[in-house]
Amino acid sequence: MEIGGLQKTTLIDYPGRVACTVFLIGCNFRCPFCYSSELVLPEKIKLQPRIYEKDFFKFLKERKGLLDNLVLCGGEPTINKDLPQFCKKIKKLGYFVKLDTNGSNPEMLKKLIDEKLIDYVAMDIKAPRGKYEFFSGAKLVNEVEESVNILKKNQIGYEFRTTIAPGLKKEDILKATNWIAGKGVNYFLQEFTAQKEVINPEILGLPVLKRKEIEEIIEQIKPKFKNCQIR
Ligand code: SF4
Repeated sequence: MEIGGLQKTTLIDYPGRVACTVFLIGCNFRCPFCYSSELVLPEKIKLQPRIYEKDFFKFLKERKGLLDNLVLCGGEPTINKDLPQFCKKIKKLGYFVKLDTNGSNPEMLKKLIDEKLIDYVAMDIKAPRGKYEFFSGAKLVNEVEESVNILKKNQIGYEFRTTIAPGLKKEDILKATNWIAGKGVNYFLQEFTAQKEVINPEILGLPVLKRKEIEEIIEQIKPKFKNCQIR
């Protein structure tokens, strides 16, 4: 497994728990607003230092008891064929595992759930169906939809989340929520903050919804969900 980063403690990435976050290298999307280009673009990946798997597992063993939760994030973790084996090793040490995914690999998602190798999933919803290609830089919306349906079977705790990227309009979010809505569904809207360079800087020229507008959207869509908040 190619590990590009490890955050040893996080209070915000695993709902209600203290966790560590491991960043896996590579992604099959090219979201224009992505600020993790060092884990996504091949020319930057080449320059990214790696963490050896043995050092990562040594860290997990040493922290066991002090830390019980781990977030698998990327890039996109599910593009790695050896992800089930990697998760098995983490689960064997007794950790709860949360997967952050773009939802593009429903077969892998199903396998991880069926084999009880993950405990919670946070899945990105980039845009409504009709604009998925623009906001994800990939033609994988059918796969994303399949992953939505897998999660909505409620075999595992999960949430959907949308980053309010520049260019996303109120009607886009309303359309996207029609797609994922459900009484058992947790849905979060995340404000966009351009911390570093993004994959396609042109997107920064597009208008961004203001906090007040996002709050108004939440009031409107709340009844469709179990829980719906801004993050
Ligand atoms: S799914 Fe998009 S935002 Fe996430 S790492 Fe890949 S390109 Fe970046």
